[in-house]
Amino acid sequence: MSNVSKKELRNNIATRLSNHLEIETLDETPLIETLGERLANAGVSRRTFMKYCMGFSAIMAIPTSLMPKLVEAALLRPVTSVVYLSFQECTGCLESLINVFPNTQYKTDSIENILLTALSLDYSETLMAPSGVQAELSRSQAIAKKNYVLVVDGAIPDDKNGAGFFIQSGKTGLQLLKAAATNAAAVVSVGTCASFGGLPAAKGINGLSPTRAISIKAALKSFGGTYATKPVINISGCPPIAEVIAGTLIYWILNKKVPSLDSNLRPKMFYGETVHEECYRKEFFEKDQFVESFDDAGARKGYCLLNMGCKGPITHNACTTLKWNQGTGYPMQAGHGCLGCSEPGFWDKEAIVGQGVGFYKPLDRNTIDD
Ligand code: SF4
Ligand code: SF4
Repeated sequence: MSNVSKKELRNNIATRLSNHLEIETLDETPLIETLGERLANAGVSRRTFMKYCMGFSAIMAIPTSLMPKLVEAALLRPVTSVVYLSFQECTGCLESLINVFPNTQYKTDSIENILLTALSLDYSETLMAPSGVQAELSRSQAIAKKNYVLVVDGAIPDDKNGAGFFIQSGKTGLQLLKAAATNAAAVVSVGTCASFGGLPAAKGINGLSPTRAISIKAALKSFGGTYATKPVINISGCPPIAEVIAGTLIYWILNKKVPSLDSNLRPKMFYGETVHEECYRKEFFEKDQFVESFDDAGARKGYCLLNMGCKGPITHNACTTLKWNQGTGYPMQAGHGCLGCSEPGFWDKEAIVGQGVGFYKPLDRNTIDD
């Protein structure tokens, strides 16, 4: 290890993640790296980063004229430290995040995984190589540095009575979250499970979540004091769109503040519209031309999927604007309705399905504006 220069380590994100502890012991001076240095060492030019941010400027509601100043200021700041915790989840959200591909639609530049370049991912159980005591040490060192962004995926069992639904290194999920949130500048709940409870909070056969799963915001609220007022950003979706996660974190890097949020704490820049508003099938919705069964004549003509249970009219997300898979498409283009995955109550609460429970139960056409 001693033959490896700091620069070499910084150049290789995977190496940095897997050798985080060793990086800290290379010399006695702390590694305080600016974002500009990080990008330069990773081969990302200032111009390229600027173009990437410009690509997001319209979506982030930042005037293009302001962007150069914000980028210049951000480049001089220390790299934003991220502590990433996972609770009751399926790892789909992290899978989505690490697939931050260039979005051709918004002409962002070819910087794969720019997030891992622009951020110092100081703790992530899924991505880091250290385990056991070393991993614990990594986390406590990151927390001691303060002012990191705490990113969380997964719901958290409300097992204050010691039910033991989530135990890691002898601590409950609630204890781990509380410790990690203490010094966090902001908490970003990635995915519907972290944002609203999601699948783990589904009611189950007894009408109760088997693990009493709650959202990260609800858990923080239950701690009271400064935890209850800690800035929280919900990036809902099952999973969220990669560019939505990336764009929100880039907004934080540039502005060091929480973006404008809706009543469910989601960034308005990505969740300000329903997926229905920009859906290409909307012209059929307006003419009351609906698919009545999959593969009927209407389905072949691309009619609206409302009667097949589409929840697009009540679901706020960027699926029909940013789109999925490098900006190439979204579910309604593939012939299936929206399930409402980014709304509170997804999977089985009545709040999301409006007039009844079920992915395929249609919304009432009369309650939806054109
Ligand atoms: S109801 Fe669904 S399929 Fe129909 S226009 Fe709206 S989002 Fe598209
Ligand atoms: S279309 Fe609906 S269910 Fe599908 S990803 Fe978007 S918000 Fe989620």
